[in-house]
Amino acid sequence: MTDPVIEIRNLHKSYSALEVLKGVDVTAPAGHVVSLIGSSGSGKSTLLRCANLLEDSQEGDVIFCGEPVVWKGTGLHRHPGDHAQMIRIRTNLSMVFQQFNLWSHMTILQNVMEAPLTVLKRDRAEVEASARAYLDKVGIGDKCDVYPAQLSGGQQQRAAIARALCMEPKALLFDEPTSALDPELEQEVVKVIKDLAAEGRTMLVVTHDMRMARDISDHVVFLHQGLIEEEGPPEAVFDAPQSERLRGFLSVTQ
Ligand code: ADP
Ligand code: MG
Repeated sequence: MTDPVIEIRNLHKSYSALEVLKGVDVTAPAGHVVSLIGSSGSGKSTLLRCANLLEDSQEGDVIFCGEPVVWKGTGLHRHPGDHAQMIRIRTNLSMVFQQFNLWSHMTILQNVMEAPLTVLKRDRAEVEASARAYLDKVGIGDKCDVYPAQLSGGQQQRAAIARALCMEPKALLFDEPTSALDPELEQEVVKVIKDLAAEGRTMLVVTHDMRMARDISDHVVFLHQGLIEEEGPPEAVFDAPQSERLRGFLSVTQ
């Protein structure tokens, strides 16, 4: 196995009295795609947000490229304790959201260039060249100068993927990237994600699209009420599910 980019060990996350993650272990080795599946409310988004430190957690470890997150405090008061480390991890784990989250007052090109310029302080000409190349790569190189509202949902999501790529992250995190799209637009985004998987990008993907999960994943994790109920290679999880709950879940989703 290649070195893990992200390792999550025994992670516990509560919102006040509500325990959402109850001791979860997930590893994304370099070059692998790990998909997270499970019912709404099972904790998938929370797990992604804990992985890139957008959320605090109460117990367990997040290890980024072999480097454990330094925590400060305990229990409900535990936070990442090293600000520079937190920023380094966040900028290296680019997230793509269900609702695209593009800035509506910026053109597509500006959206893609913003974080590399302001967060990473990279050279403008270099960032622009790279932004244009990523927009070409996702098939919307001709949309640089328009605003998000002028694009279809599928185009907006592809712009959001270009924006994530332009950070040159160590891994990509996707949270239901195709759920907000009409079926005919879904496939253009699925194709981009499949291409990224085929290039050997490290990805942690929350999805309701079982066909995509089967096609792109090296490993599939089924979460149920904040715990891993079953996991394995896609052939095992989809074709020979062991747990009754996973069988039930798959019977209504595929
Ligand atoms: P999923 O992505 O699998 O649908 P989530 O991780 O979004 O699940 O949510 C898991 C549980 O945590 C749900 O019960 C949800 O209501 C709760 N939850 C998520 N975010 C918050 C929050 N900011 N405050 C309180 N509860 C939350
Ligand atoms: Mg979610």
